[in-house]
Amino acid sequence: MALVVQKFGGTSVADPERIKTVASHVARTKREGNEVVVVVSAMGRTTDDLIRLAAEIGPVRPGRELDMLLTAGERISMALLCMALGHLDIPSISLTGSQAGIITDSTHGKAKILEVKADRIHEAMSGHKVAVVAGFQGVSEAHDVTTLGRGGSDTTAVALAAALHAGSCEIYTDVPGVFSADPQIVPAAKRISRLSFEEMLEIAASGGRVLALRSVEFARNHGVPLEVRSSFTWEPGTIVDKENPEMEQAIVSAVTNDASEAKVTVTGVPDRPGIAASLFRALADRSVNVDMIVQNTSREGTTDISFTVPKDDLEESLEITMSLAPVIKASAVCSDSDIARVSLIGAGMKTNPGVSATMFEVLAREGINIEMISTSSIRLSCVVKAADMERAVQTLHNEFGLG
Ligand code: ASP
Ligand code: MG
Repeated sequence: MALVVQKFGGTSVADPERIKTVASHVARTKREGNEVVVVVSAMGRTTDDLIRLAAEIGPVRPGRELDMLLTAGERISMALLCMALGHLDIPSISLTGSQAGIITDSTHGKAKILEVKADRIHEAMSGHKVAVVAGFQGVSEAHDVTTLGRGGSDTTAVALAAALHAGSCEIYTDVPGVFSADPQIVPAAKRISRLSFEEMLEIAASGGRVLALRSVEFARNHGVPLEVRSSFTWEPGTIVDKENPEMEQAIVSAVTNDASEAKVTVTGVPDRPGIAASLFRALADRSVNVDMIVQNTSREGTTDISFTVPKDDLEESLEITMSLAPVIKASAVCSDSDIARVSLIGAGMKTNPGVSATMFEVLAREGINIEMISTSSIRLSCVVKAADMERAVQTLHNEFGLG
């Protein structure tokens, strides 16, 4: 019997009708002779609503009580889905992250999974029950409830698929897969039928919102192939798997955009060993996820360092950087949150020169100024003004013939 992990996102379980539809799909998969383990997100915008509720009490900070609150969202979905399965005569059992044995570290709000002790899931399976697991949550070694960060249910699904050696991990959402650009910005964007883990990682890291980045990292590290599909149309979606060496790689597969980050610039930084280390260590120690980093060649012994951080972390990053500036003898710190990152991703870039030149020419022709540039072997990113983002995505998508 094949074991399938099926994860249903917030829109897939947004209301009772959707939950009943999902239950029918799970029932069908089970009746076709598969073993099924289900992971659910909170219904619709429940997580946002809970955060708003907390904000009405006072400033919202990650911590034990916020995690306790937010994990309630996924509990609602799992219980309702089990009830719906019951009405279809499919035996099931709901399990919180803790009950499902998702052991994490104790970083509330973005806990990392350390181990999966899936005893109760195995027990459910041997009793021929579908285990329905609350996504996005776990329990720390100190027995506190933790959450894995926004979009964390994807990570729960992949971690379970890896731990249970599942044959497949299906991620159901409200779009039929990963697209060559955000269809809201580029109506001609196409569904991509297959991507390598590396491409998907770059897409997730640069603004593609279909899969949470950490889930893709986990999938790559554990070799768990993923399929992103729609729970509205159930049509074949996007497969994310190891690169297939037999196949010609697309030079550019997708254009992504991300307006969720802000830029911090530290000017007049002394150019000597240890300065960047102390700056980024201080940020890392407070769990700030620094993304792009650019440092200039120094002139007269000082240089400027710019980096981007999630907008949510901007305040904290400024606090840290400003208190460190006098210590490292930097002259000033400034920030800009009116920026966006536009990226091209494609495994074929590795072997095809000229992609960057074309990208910069397209932006120049549109009169779009580039504020920062960063690259990997399969990604090219430019930071531009937020107001230029959509136009940049549209022209690049068109220029590289992705429609
Ligand atoms: N409910 C959580 C969120 O909205 C986790 C998830 O949906 O994956 O971020
Ligand atoms: Mg979600």
